[in-house]
Amino acid sequence: MAAFREVFRRSGIDEGRSPPGMVVPFGGSNIVALIDPGRKLKVDPNPHALGIKEIDGADTLRRVMQARETFSQPDIDPQLRAASLPATFNGDARFFEINGRIKPIAFPGLEVVARSARGTIEARLRVAVLREITVKVAFRNLMVPGSSGSPTFHAKKPCNEQDELLTMNNIWRPQANIRFERVPSDWVVIDDSQADVKKEIANATGMKDASLAILPDLIDVEKMKGMFVKHKVKGAHLTIFCVDKLFHNGGYPNGAFARGLDLAFICSQRGPNTSAHESGHFLGYYSKSPTKPWDSQGHTLEVDPKTRKENRAEDIKMLMRGGGAGWKIPFNLVKEFRDFPG
Ligand SMILES: [Zn+2]
Repeated sequence: MAAFREVFRRSGIDEGRSPPGMVVPFGGSNIVALIDPGRKLKVDPNPHALGIKEIDGADTLRRVMQARETFSQPDIDPQLRAASLPATFNGDARFFEINGRIKPIAFPGLEVVARSARGTIEARLRVAVLREITVKVAFRNLMVPGSSGSPTFHAKKPCNEQDELLTMNNIWRPQANIRFERVPSDWVVIDDSQADVKKEIANATGMKDASLAILPDLIDVEKMKGMFVKHKVKGAHLTIFCVDKLFHNGGYPNGAFARGLDLAFICSQRGPNTSAHESGHFLGYYSKSPTKPWDSQGHTLEVDPKTRKENRAEDIKMLMRGGGAGWKIPFNLVKEFRDFPG
């Protein structure tokens, strides 16, 4: 059966929805596969809105094979593999570059169709052309006085801001055309040997004797988020603090978002995508949709449409799942993250 399909995973095509959806950056292009057993279908060029061009299948297939090889390596994280391993294609696959240079196209996107010679529509695809949104983000490792008196990392696993930024952009740019830009900043020192800082910690955590207050390894987000507001980085829309451990909503998460404060936390037990996931809550806070599904605690759960039970194989891929962020942003949710005013 004819159908539009993802070429590379999490590249802005979502074949898991019906019809499949595609994100094309305004001013750029993206590629999609058409499974066309007779190799005779005509893809409706819509010259007023999109440029559509069939491209060299051999070259694309070579790149797909390379990606398959990369993500099949035994040392690849299984969650990354689940979200990244491309399908294999046979001779029925044709490849098209869709170009979004003419104008932006809002959700739910423009329908592109593949027709038979008689004009019957054999496959559909929704294409949204999105302007780039830039979010300025700053990362701050929390430092505390060490045993020798010189500042030491609060986290056992401090963050590397370049790595965090790279992964965030790997996830958000192709799938939502949202680009994170780093605002340089120093690490933040909270010196809990100082009386005023001890008082602040005691007030936040409800200790009676402030002289005994020290910054604990475990940061209770609801109680202590206020202490971090003044350490947000000027010029950044979002500041992400890296601390050792987190307590939030009765659990010990990899990361947490402090709603309405434009600050988030990641901790030593975080995964590669924790910053990207918390950024989703940050962007979701600005959503103008009535449901605001990502604001604060909203998470995806992929279920089997028939049994209504969790579809683990699909769920594990998702960026906004609870308990260990994956990589994928489904097409029909992209708009929820794009109301951020900038
Ligand atoms: Zn979350």
